[in-house]
Formats: sequence, structure tokens, C-alpha cells
Amino acid sequence: MPEIACPVCNADISLDGDEHDGDTVFCSYCTSPLRIVVKASDGSVSVVDDT
Ligand SMILES: [Zn+2]
Repeated sequence: MPEIACPVCNADISLDGDEHDGDTVFCSYCTSPLRIVVKASDGSVSVVDDT
């Protein structure tokens, strides 16, 4: 299960692993909306602050 760091509060967020590029998830700690970015070249997942 991939984990990412919230760009707002730096908390670790566990992903289900089936997120897609452009999906929005919410940080379970600060509840900020975060947009999933999947890098096409290697499939790595990151998030950007979507507020
Ligand atoms: Zn957060």
C-alpha cells in the first residue's frame, strides 16, 4: 500500500493503491483536498494541494 506525505501538514497518508491521476483524496489529519498525480513514466504517485 503506497504512502504519501500530505503537502499541507506532512502527515503520512495511506492510499488504497487504486487511485488514478486527477483523483481527489482528503488528508485524514488536516482534511485538505489533495489531487493525485501519477507520473506516467514510472507510475509513482504524489499529491498536490488542491485547495
Ligand atoms: Zn494534511
